[in-house]
Amino acid sequence: MSFPPDRLLCMRIVVLAGGIGGARFLRGLKSAAPDADITVIGNTGDDIHLFGLKVCPDLDTVMYTLGGGINEEQGWGRADETFQVKGELAAYGVGPEWFGLGDRDFATHIVRTQMLGAGYPLSAVTEALCERWQPGVRLLPMSDDRIETHVAVEVDGERKAVHFQEYWVKLRASVDAQAVVPVGAEQAKPAPGVLEAIGEADVILFPPSNPVVSIGTILAVPGVREAIADAGVPVVGLSPIVGDAPVRGMADKMLAAVGVESTAAAVARHYGSGLLDGWLVDTVDAGTVEDVESAGIRCRAVPLMMTGVEATAAMAREALGLAEEVRA
Ligand code: GDP
Ligand code: CA
Repeated sequence: MSFPPDRLLCMRIVVLAGGIGGARFLRGLKSAAPDADITVIGNTGDDIHLFGLKVCPDLDTVMYTLGGGINEEQGWGRADETFQVKGELAAYGVGPEWFGLGDRDFATHIVRTQMLGAGYPLSAVTEALCERWQPGVRLLPMSDDRIETHVAVEVDGERKAVHFQEYWVKLRASVDAQAVVPVGAEQAKPAPGVLEAIGEADVILFPPSNPVVSIGTILAVPGVREAIADAGVPVVGLSPIVGDAPVRGMADKMLAAVGVESTAAAVARHYGSGLLDGWLVDTVDAGTVEDVESAGIRCRAVPLMMTGVEATAAMAREALGLAEEVRA
């Protein structure tokens, strides 16, 4: 179904986003709905303190991608990056060496840390950083409170919890995750504007972001899941799992940790019909449409590979079209 373009004018769209999958989808959404009012609720569970600096990888991936500063091939970090500072730190024996912070990127974290130190909340800092990047969306951190995703693993017979970045970047998800915990989430509050945006939305979208450590973490902020479930507007998601595997990255490891199979249908059931009204699977997974619909979630099979802005815009139009279908 195609979406009537006049309905896109001033439509209020809320998108829950992780890093690469969320950011690339948002670029397509902006192209499909240039006049829509888009609010992005960004995951901050990946945030980490490095070298005394506060790093927010997912917020920055969205900001750089939509602002034109992203390293396109890599999908994260800055274009035309150099690594002089990292080299100098290593010469002092100061690590970690496994997290790649480039010189241009460092400036963002310095500004952020300085503002946080001066007492500004993360939401205000993010708004200030976006003054430069003009992402064309309102980018809100899910919370101003510190939430850090930790992963329980067993290494050499010893069970321990490591920061998500250590699991993902240093260990490259090479060991099984036994549990994923958004530490601090229970005591956290949604950032200013988050619940308001959900309450005023015409449609809510889950891009093909990681269902556990990106969207799952945002949903773990008290009040967010309930606000979405009670918003009374269509909630439509796009599967990050295509042909029973993540398109990119190791999302299957995170799904296994919460007992969910790596299939498009299992992810839809994991969100559940209490949250999702519509779900898009890739055409290779067309055979699962019936399964998803039997869970009470309207489902369509369409191409879901974000090979470029036009292909991604087509995905966004399908998502908005499905939203109108479930609204009717
Ligand atoms: P991260 O924070 O950088 O890991 O990014 P997200 O959580 O926003 O998105 C990660 C997810 O995006 C992974 O699970 C991928 O499977 C998914 N993904 C990446 N590229 C594509 C694509 O072209 N199509 C689909 N359907 N999913 C994708
Ligand atoms: Ca992330």
